[in-house]
This record gives sequence, C-alpha cells and structure tokens, in this order.
Amino acid sequence: MSDTTTGRREPTLPDGWELVCGLEVHVELSTATKLFCGCPNEFGAEPNTNVCPTCLGLPGSLPVMNGAAVTSAMRLGRALDCRVQPSVMARKNYFYPDMPKDFQTSQYDQPTNEDGHLDLPDGTTIRVERAHIEEDTGKSTHVGGDGRITSAEYSLIDYNRAGVPLLEIVSHPDIRTAEEAKAYVAELRGIVLALDVSDARMEEGSMRVDANVSVRPVGSDELRTRCEIKNINSLSSLGRAIVHEANRHVDLWTTGERPLQETRHWDEEAGRTRSGRSKEDAEDYRYFPEPDLTPLQPSEVDLEAVDASIPELPAQTRARLADVAGVTPPEVGLIVDRGQASFALDAIDSGADAGRVLVHLTNNLADGVGEMSSSAFAGLVAMEVGGELSSTQTKEVLADMVATGRDAPVVAAEKGFEAMDTSELEGLLDGLIADHPGEWERFSTGDEGDAKKMAGFFTGQIMKATRGQADGKVVAQLLNSRK
Ligand code: ZN
Ligand code: MN
Repeated sequence: MSDTTTGRREPTLPDGWELVCGLEVHVELSTATKLFCGCPNEFGAEPNTNVCPTCLGLPGSLPVMNGAAVTSAMRLGRALDCRVQPSVMARKNYFYPDMPKDFQTSQYDQPTNEDGHLDLPDGTTIRVERAHIEEDTGKSTHVGGDGRITSAEYSLIDYNRAGVPLLEIVSHPDIRTAEEAKAYVAELRGIVLALDVSDARMEEGSMRVDANVSVRPVGSDELRTRCEIKNINSLSSLGRAIVHEANRHVDLWTTGERPLQETRHWDEEAGRTRSGRSKEDAEDYRYFPEPDLTPLQPSEVDLEAVDASIPELPAQTRARLADVAGVTPPEVGLIVDRGQASFALDAIDSGADAGRVLVHLTNNLADGVGEMSSSAFAGLVAMEVGGELSSTQTKEVLADMVATGRDAPVVAAEKGFEAMDTSELEGLLDGLIADHPGEWERFSTGDEGDAKKMAGFFTGQIMKATRGQADGKVVAQLLNSRK
C-alpha cells in the first residue's frame, strides 16, 4: 500500500500536529426479523410491542441465528474486500438497563469479516480492521434535566430495538482529516445502500458513528491516548466533533496536561464534546464464546453465492459515468450518491450533451428527476444546446417537466418560449443606445469597472424588454461586438 500520508493533515490543527482517527460504524441490517428471535425488525413502532422472551433476555429463552443477517454481513465484508471466515459469537458482559440480558451477543476474536479496506473517492485507502455481527441494545430516554442520565428525574426504556441485527465496521486509525472521516462514512453508506442491506439513515439511527480521536506530532508514528466520541448522527456533526476534539487534545498536550482515555459525547448546540464514562478496556467486558449458538461456518457454495450477489459499487459507478462523460470520478460523486447515475447514463445514451446533463443533475435536480424520463430530459438538453432555449428558459421548462413528465417542446411552446433571433435583439439594442447615449458612452470607452457596470445595465434592460427570454450569452456577444 502506498504511503498517502503526505499532505493529509487536518488544516484546523496548529502546525506540527496531526490527527489520528479511526471510526466504528454501526449499521442496522434491514432484515424482516431480529437477530435471534422472530420479532419484527421495524423502526417507529409503539414502544415495547416488538418484544418476546428471547430479546427481553428472560430465563429459559434461547437464541436462534438469523441466516439473512449473516448473509448481509458476509456481503458487506466482501464489498469491503475483507477475508470472510468462520466466526464465533461471544458474550460481551456489562450491566446497563438498555441491555436486559446483562450481556450483548457480539463477536470478539473470531469476527465474520477481517482485514479489508475502503478507498475514498480521492484514492486514499482506509484499512478496515473488521466488520462483525452483533445485536443492538434497547433505547433509553432520560426525562427531565438536560436529557442526560445524571440530571434525569426518571428514565424510559424501549426494548423494540433490543436484538436488532447490527454490523459494526471498525477502521484502522488511518484517517488524517475531518473531511476524510466524512468521506469514509459517505462512501460506506453508498456501499451499504448499493448492497441494500440497510436503509443507513443517520438521523434515524440505522447508521451510527463513533469516532476515536487522538493527535501526535507530525512525523511520529506513536498512538497517543484517544477519546471515543459516541453516536454522532450526521456527517456535519462528525466533522465538527473531530475538529473540536483534536484541537482539545493539542491544547492539553501543549499545556503540559494529557487527555484521559474516555468516552465523550458531542453537544451539537454548544459545539463541544463532554466527558462520558471512562472507557472500558476489552478485559472489562469478560468476553467468552456464546454457549447457546454454534460457530458460523460458511461453505464454499455460500461464499460463491455471496460473491455473485455483489452489485456494482459506487466507485465502479463513478468510474463508468466519468468515463462516458469525459470527466474525473470525483466530479460525478454527487450524482452517484443521489442515485442518479443510471438516469445520467441513459440521457447521454439518448444523445444528450454530457456536460449539460451533469450540470443540470448537479445544480438543478438535487431533489430528484420526478416524473421526467431520461429521453425527455435529453430532448430538453438538445433544445438548450441548439440555442432554441435560453438558460433561464431551460430551467423553467425543466421544473415543469419534473412535475408533469411532459416533453420539452410541448412545455416550451405552452410557455411561449420561442427562440429570439439575433436581429430582434439588434433592433432592441439600437433603441436602448438611442435612449441612453451616456450609458453607452461609459460602456464603450469607460474603464473596466464602468464597462462592466454598464454591460449589466444594458443586459438588464434587454432581459426586461424580453421578459427574460433573451439568451444571456447571445446578449453579451452582441454588446461586445458593438463596442
Ligand atoms: Zn424477540
Ligand atoms: Mn458495537
């Protein structure tokens, strides 16, 4: 693996310091039922209605492994280039009211997926240590005070989420900037969505990010004390939390103090992290193999089926669209993230100018293409490129097509958008020059600032007279040719 560290330094840190960050991402798998019982796996149900003796941890109940969850886990492992291997479930022991069994069934030293990597759109490789299967906890809500347990009057607990299947994807501490952390999560989310193993909604908690943050002097390869920022629920919070935490560490080190190894929480409103519990080491959890579940032993046939089920992943889609459009892969990142790649490819295939397709999708179709077909869109782009519609008119027709699904010529005719020929504009400009000789003088012989100001004036007058139907580019050409 090539060293890509050069130039990858978090720009908000003081000179001489670098960020060292690893991410743990929990993804809720969208299986029909929970990991070890037949309770529905659904978000937003009435509290404590999707529960049974198994997911409540009642005595005498036994877990049965959900095969669909294991398949999803192996598919994501393969998509991250992990080694998919025989694995063992383990008990992770801790007492917390959202975990009714007093242990979480997870994986420890024999996870399903190990040693993969995720490549960011800019080519940076972030190594993936493991991606293991585990169950989710229940959800507690602390009522009263500031919403944290320490100041609460009482706490409510909902076990609907207890036992929902999770995949925890753990990266190596290879991330060097907050932007890389955001790009990693965005790319992972894109892969999860392409595989269709989760809806990966950060705001609903079906994708949750914990960031391990430390800093060190540039050039050193030591790993200093890290803090784990828990349950960050948006990409922008992730970036802000990492920047804040890394700078807090630099402040501590440079004033002769040192950070404590602990869990911290991101306070979005205050824009800072706050201390949580001191972080347990693995030995505090007293892991041991789960005696009620057999080891997972995927066969060659299973693995072949998993491989055959991997669809085109975002990186491949970006490369394919960029190739067709003649641009670089990062330039089509937004379009691929929004799931508009096949629409773009179909429109280009129908003969539309690739550059205009990308511009419209990026800037004017952020909320989706609605009712519009790719071939109708190609028709609109042809009218725009052919000069039949100005860019203002094109946008207006586009909005109508998204809403109604009609064809471009129909909409343009209905709106009275007919190509304004140059001779009409010439006549208009003659009139304007006659009415505003002083302004024209300043346009043609004034200094650069004056000329620019007056160009704006004449363009504005022409747009007013044509009710925005004149093509701005044509007007500019016309003005300059008369100078
Ligand atoms: Zn259950
Ligand atoms: Mn976990």
